[in-house]
Amino acid sequence: MDTSRFEKLLRDEKTKLGAEQKENAKEDEFDNADHFFPEEEADQVEAHDIELSMDRTIGNSLEDIDAALERIEKGTYGTCEACGQAIDEARLEANPAARTHTQC
Ligand SMILES: [Zn+2]
Repeated sequence: MDTSRFEKLLRDEKTKLGAEQKENAKEDEFDNADHFFPEEEADQVEAHDIELSMDRTIGNSLEDIDAALERIEKGTYGTCEACGQAIDEARLEANPAARTHTQC
């Protein structure tokens, strides 16, 4: 399998997510500044919660991407972590960080 193509996809995605994460961290700093105001709007709190959960999603994706890049290095990329069988290239195309194949 041509892993260099997937490696590029993964690295692009990692760069993108890293930038998003930095952007979110910046917004968090603004949020903290807001906390000097005693009365906080309920919807502001809600927006903050959504940001936090977005951070977590990005964190998970970055972990998946790092794991996938590691597998490329080890030469085990494209095999299912659950059953060890090859993952469809079409699935990797859609989600290059996929750890398992759809049936698992
Ligand atoms: Zn499997």
